[in-house]
Amino acid sequence: MRTDELIALDRAHVWHPYGPMPGRTDPLVVASASGVRLTLAEPAEGHTELIDGMSSWWSAVHGYNHPVLNEAVRGQLDRMSHVMFGGLTHEPAVRLAARLVEITPEPLRHVFLSDSGSVAVEVAAKMCLQYWRSLGRPGKQRLFTWRGGYHGDTWQPMSVCDPQGGMHELWTGVLQRQVFVDAPPATYEESYAELLRAGIARHAHELAAVVVEPVVQGAGGMRFHDPAYLRVLREACDEHDVLLVFDEIATGFGRTGTLFAADQAGVSPDVMCLGKALTGGYLSMAATLCTSRVADGISRGEVPVLAHGPTFMGNPLASAVACASIDLLLSQDWTVEVKRIEAGLHEGLAAAAELPGVREVRVLGAIGVVQLDHEVDMAAATRAAVREGVWLRPFRDLIYTMPPYVTDDGDLARICAAVRAAAAAG
Ligand code: PLP
Repeated sequence: MRTDELIALDRAHVWHPYGPMPGRTDPLVVASASGVRLTLAEPAEGHTELIDGMSSWWSAVHGYNHPVLNEAVRGQLDRMSHVMFGGLTHEPAVRLAARLVEITPEPLRHVFLSDSGSVAVEVAAKMCLQYWRSLGRPGKQRLFTWRGGYHGDTWQPMSVCDPQGGMHELWTGVLQRQVFVDAPPATYEESYAELLRAGIARHAHELAAVVVEPVVQGAGGMRFHDPAYLRVLREACDEHDVLLVFDEIATGFGRTGTLFAADQAGVSPDVMCLGKALTGGYLSMAATLCTSRVADGISRGEVPVLAHGPTFMGNPLASAVACASIDLLLSQDWTVEVKRIEAGLHEGLAAAAELPGVREVRVLGAIGVVQLDHEVDMAAATRAAVREGVWLRPFRDLIYTMPPYVTDDGDLARICAAVRAAAAAG
């Protein structure tokens, strides 16, 4: 198909994330992707190849078209692409579940496989609410979280996203009313820790769980906070009989410098959500892990099952590539790569702090953020990055990058130049 025809059909028929219908802008057409490069069907701003500064929204940590991951999918494809998971099981899903239990913090022990991060959070919420019902405490059905969070676009996750100025403000009043406290400060403040403790204590009688993104609040604002707050949450949850859920969908698999962000605090949640980089960005898959305490509690209830069962649950192709992606990550010293990227981002983005309109530059692990003091002109900022041969997707007041871990120093320098150019233009 000619590129102009493809774009016309796309604009007429295809709904894109957070997009209008019909489409109002021309998306770039990606013909293929390999390593850290996206190849475009038509040149844009003089480039046919763009370095991917986004890892396809946190997921493609090993880059694209990786021979090991390709082989995992191909090998599984020859055996079985999919089979229903009700009443049947198969080796890829079992191997994946066991592997996830092995690498996540103790005492997470049971794994529910689903097909997107939002569903993983839905399942987490359902587990927690059902746990308390099963224990004869049906009053404990609300969730406690901090502002500035993002947990997905389906109903229960939307209810714990930032309710003010956030992406789901439209639905305030329709969504379940949850308990919110301010977003965590970057550094440890005892007064904020006290606010967390007091909020959990006050609402404990009605709380099923505390649900947070540990260390990094992603799509809600790309903010980082002191891991010590996770210990405060754990202690308060233990003291007041509230479950603790960590949404590691964005932070999982090394992005912040530790395998899971919670590792920075040495804290284990009762329930943990994973997604995005789980399959190295190859296929849609997510997981919700819980402890035996949670699973046993649910099993003791009047309805002793978790009533959830996606059609594509435990998809064998996704399970196989997830196992391969985890093995690939852990077979190398990935922490060295993330530290190298962290140093490169610090060095390359420092100059952005001097640009007019820049409020703050922050870097953590393989995440670099330039926050403006105004709403970004998305089209202008994106164009400026593409002019540098880099793909970025700025939003709100943020220009940010989370490159694949295989990005070499030369490409990383170009990504940083593109972030600076986007900040200057946006
Ligand atoms: N939770 C977090 C922390 C996320 O960053 C996201 C997606 O950006 C989600 C949940 C939702 O995941 P998905 O887009 O796969 O539904």
